[in-house]
Amino acid sequence: MNRRTLLKSATLLPLASVPDGLISSAPTARKRSVRFAYLGDTHITPDSKPMESVAKCFHHAQNHADKPAFILHGGDVIMDALAKDRADVQKQWDAWNSVVKASNSLPIEYCIGNHDIWGVDAAKSEPLYGKKWAIDQMKISGRYRSFDRNGWHFIILDSVQPKPDGNWYTGNIDAEQLEWLKQDLVKTGTKTPILLLSHIPIFSPTGFFSETNIKDGTWNIPAALVLSNTPELLKLFYQYPNIKTALSGHMHLLDRVDYNGVTYLCNGAVSGNWWKSEIYQQTKAGYALIDLYDDGTVERTYLQYS
Ligand SMILES: [Zn+2]
Repeated sequence: MNRRTLLKSATLLPLASVPDGLISSAPTARKRSVRFAYLGDTHITPDSKPMESVAKCFHHAQNHADKPAFILHGGDVIMDALAKDRADVQKQWDAWNSVVKASNSLPIEYCIGNHDIWGVDAAKSEPLYGKKWAIDQMKISGRYRSFDRNGWHFIILDSVQPKPDGNWYTGNIDAEQLEWLKQDLVKTGTKTPILLLSHIPIFSPTGFFSETNIKDGTWNIPAALVLSNTPELLKLFYQYPNIKTALSGHMHLLDRVDYNGVTYLCNGAVSGNWWKSEIYQQTKAGYALIDLYDDGTVERTYLQYS
């Protein structure tokens, strides 16, 4: 059977028995909706290595002939605010803002990471306690939000929550936010392609990288690595065939999972191994170019910038 007759006969087969590859080999007339750069886990400090490296990454992202339209930051902008005092946290945000000012001319849309949250030891009455300081620095309307860009709907989630004892942090989409998410999806409907972004992955195999997560033959993946209400989210997403991709950071690792029509992408880290080395496990320090298409497809190119 030559390729032509194979293709011809394939169209007569029930869909489930069409071999992989034949569907995607059909000519498509998709058009790119938008290209953006995903930068995440920059973990900046006022030290020269992180500052110079983040600047280099910004330059690399902006110097493509086919330029990204904006930057999506997946969170953990600064090294760590959780257990640091006000002056220390201020220095980290100042470092970030000075690099952005000197080296970046693209708009940045941010997602909050666990290390952007201030105040594990701070009094709760402190006005900038928790996520407030990060929200101010990121100039975002709230801890979660959505917006439309070039025919796609972007939903930015807040995946980092305090544990029941009040200390930070565990991973989930809290009840208030989940209600908002459900309403946002209803409003968006089932046609417009949707991209989700959460700092902590919704669905990712990267939790399996560590021997410490398996004990006596049982895997134990904490909700700090994959959200505790992922099963509920997967059921919700299944009702919306237009949810096409869900991006994340946090793990500093690179993965891709295709599940129920959603492409889950964990996107490495600009800081690699928190600036200790340029590789963490098997993932090199880098950032991603993401291309979204009008037929709901997504393509990611992960790049080293140095
Ligand atoms: Zn991080």
